This record gives sequence, structure tokens and C-alpha cells, in this order.
Amino acid sequence: MDAIIVAKFGGSSMADAAAMRRSAGVALEHKANIVTVSATYGTTNNLIKLSELAMTKDWSACEEIILEIREKHLSIACDLDLGNTSSLERLLNEVETLSKGMFLLKDCSPKAFDAIQSLGERLSSLLFTRALDLAWANERKVECFDVRKVLRTDDQFGKATPLIEEISTLCDTHLIDCKYDNVVYVTQGFIGQTECGHTTTLGRGGSDYSAALIAEGIGADILQIWTDVAGIATTDPRIVPTAKLMNEITFSEAAELATFGAKILHPTTLTPALRKNVSVYVGSSYEASAPGTWIKKSCSETPLIRAMAQKKEQSLLTLSTPKMIGSHGFLYEIFKIFNAHKVSIDSVTTSEISVALTIEDSTLLNRKLLGELENLAEVKVEENLSLVSLIGNNINHTAGLGKRIFEALGDINVRMICLGASRHNFCFLVDGERANDAIIRLHDHFIGE
Ligand code: ADP
Ligand code: ASP
Ligand code: MG
Repeated sequence: MDAIIVAKFGGSSMADAAAMRRSAGVALEHKANIVTVSATYGTTNNLIKLSELAMTKDWSACEEIILEIREKHLSIACDLDLGNTSSLERLLNEVETLSKGMFLLKDCSPKAFDAIQSLGERLSSLLFTRALDLAWANERKVECFDVRKVLRTDDQFGKATPLIEEISTLCDTHLIDCKYDNVVYVTQGFIGQTECGHTTTLGRGGSDYSAALIAEGIGADILQIWTDVAGIATTDPRIVPTAKLMNEITFSEAAELATFGAKILHPTTLTPALRKNVSVYVGSSYEASAPGTWIKKSCSETPLIRAMAQKKEQSLLTLSTPKMIGSHGFLYEIFKIFNAHKVSIDSVTTSEISVALTIEDSTLLNRKLLGELENLAEVKVEENLSLVSLIGNNINHTAGLGKRIFEALGDINVRMICLGASRHNFCFLVDGERANDAIIRLHDHFIGE
């Protein structure tokens, strides 16, 4: 039996009819059993913009963007000779109805916001089903599958948590046919559904995660992430154009890279793949014959520094109180507050009377969280920082590494350092405006041309 493959195509692989035909060709060549797609390029951003405009501007501003979304999708439908556009029209009308509701109420609840964002993937998957059907030329049945039937989540709208066991059972019930060559399913990334039937989203960039969850759910052998770069590079090629593509990287290194800001993979993508031993491949739909990157349990080489990443828009909170001296339970009290607000902390350091930790800038909008922290300690906030990470092997046992890093950084001030928790990661905070420069200097020093 052929390997069972889940292939995911991101927004740039869905940009227009030509990109869709190209991506469909890739899915056909690999005989992907399930194809998970993102919204067409820029559509999620447009839907987010539309929700904001609906609450703040007059209806004509909304109409303009609704028209843009409509024309883009109808034009792709026309280029793909999609005869019957009634399903597409129904979804386009839903964009208008939902935004009208937000406009009239001047309100966009998290539930409504997820509902409107889901339309990007629901529209693109309809179009891609047509593109793949053309590619398979009736040799195999191609069907658009509503992923919400299997991707069960909790009700944390905006960043819902998938319910793994339910997903596995639902995949067995609904997707089994694709394993026996009867049918190829095209389905949506990014979106899910609560038990009560409300649409949720997994957070920006979440289609990678959806594809991994489906791969886990159906027991796939391979998860392919097709994007606009021919694999994982030593750093973001947009910052360092000479960054090198890697043929292989370990799960641990790739997971650190994704968690610490490399946009190429959504941070949680690798967890389901690791749980079910699914091999993961990253390649470009524009250059599908290039070698790409395989993410493996172990690699033939284990360099000290394999890659680097940055996580932007970070805030440093420093909590100080003399009550910490010689006492216990203080960290517990702090983390309990973050837990209650479902806010994740990226890095932590402590001293005798203070704890410094980093969170995303946007978390500061949660005044209640800050208020509760202020009841415990004096809180100092520094915004617009970036967390720069070096990813590799044996990092916490290598003499002289710190010296090399600081020499390479030169005059760039380091605000906080985290070392020791992982042998794969050394990370530190710098001013957001100096982060690209830090990456350029470190890449030059550790990886070179
Ligand atoms: P998609 O829409 O296909 O999901 P994304 O824009 O989310 O694509 O991710 C691909 C982008 O990730 C690339 O264009 C690149 O700029 C960025 N990126 C960040 N870090 C890396 C890295 N280490 N290697 C390759 N690409 C990276
Ligand atoms: N369309 C969603 C986004 O732009 C999800 C994704 O592309 O992965 O964030
Ligand atoms: Mg992405």
C-alpha cells in the first residue's frame, strides 16, 4: 500500500488560479490522500480588517472590502471553469451577512470573529477542490470535506484547543475512505468546531497545526507542508537572504524554532506528528522538485548552532517584592494568575526578590491580569522587545558559547537571557528595533555565507 499522505498548502500556494493549479499538480504527483488548505493569500487579513471596519467605519468602507473578497474568489472560480458557483455565492453572502451584523451591533464577539475568519478557508477549499478535480481528471473522486465535522475543539474562540481523542474518533468515522484510494478529500486548515456546533479557529497560521492533527487522526505516514520557500532555512530568508536551506532537522530543533518565532511552522504543528510518529516534510509548491527539509527524530549531523529565529512584540514583566526573600509559593501564585487568564509565558528568570518573564505585547491589553499581578508585587513593564533564539545541540554544555554570542552582538544590548532549560536553545531579549541586526550578526558569525 502507498504511504498515506496529508498535504497542506499555505496562503501563497493558494494565491490565484495558477498557484492553485500548480499546488494541485503537486498533490497529484504525491498522491496526497487529504489536502488541507489555507485561505487564499491575504484573505484572512482582509476578513480581520472587515470586522474592524464594521465596528468603526460606515458601511461603504465594508462594502469595498467585501467586493474585493468577492471579486478575487469569483475570478479564480472563473479561471478554473467552476460552472456552478452557488456554494461559493452562499459563502460570499455569509461574509456580507456576518459583517452586516457586526456593523449594526457595532460589536464583534470572539465567536463572531472566528465565524467570519473561517470563511477564508471555506472559500479556498471549494476552489481548490475544483483545481484538484481538474488535475486528477476523473481518475479519482475529489471531494470538499467540512473539517468542522472532525476537528473538535474547546470553546476558547481565537485560539481553540483541539480535543485529540474526539478528533481521532471522528476521523475514523468520517475520513477512513481516503486511506483506501476511494476518494481524495480537500479540507480547511485553521478552523474547528465546539461540541455545540460553534465555529472556532486555532490561532493565526494554524493550518499547519490542523493538517498535523488530521495526519494524526487518520494515522498518516507523511505530513507535507507546502509553502513559498523550499524548506526550513537557517533563519528567515527575508532577514538574511543568504540563509541556507537544510535537508534535515530534528523534531526537537524544529519545535524550538517554531515556538521561538520561525513563521515557517505553526508552533504546535509537530506535537501531533511526534505523538503518532508521522514523518514531516517542508517544501515549496513553487519549486516542488527541490529537496526540501525532512524533520526527523535524529539527524546525521548535530551542529552546535543549526538555526536561529526571533519572536517579535514581546513584553518583559518584572515583578518585585521583598516578600519573596526566604519564602515559598511565590512563583506558584504568579503562575496561577497566568494560568487563570490562559496566558502563556515564553521565558523566565528569577533573582532574590524579583521574577522577570516575557509574554506577547498584546497580552497587556488584559488589564485584569496586570491588576491581579500588581496585588502580589510591584510590576514593571517594558514593551516592543524581541526574543532572539539560537537553536542547536548541546548548547547548555558548550564552554565559550556565551562569549562568542556576545562578541558577535557587539553594541546590541541584551535585556534578559535564558540558558539552561534546553540543550537546544539559547535565547535572549533585545530591543525590537535591533532584533534583525542581531540575527544578521549571529548568522554571519555562526553560519556564514
Ligand atoms: P504559508 O502561508 O505557506 O503558511 P508562511 O508565510 O506562514 O507560509 O511561512 C513561510 C514563511 O516563513 C517564509 O516565506 C519565510 O519568510 C518565513 N520563515 C521564517 N523563518 C523561516 C525559516 N527558518 N526558514 C524558512 N522560512 C522561514
Ligand atoms: N488563514 C489563516 C491565517 O492566515 C491560517 C493559515 O494560513 O495557516 O492565519
Ligand atoms: Mg503559515
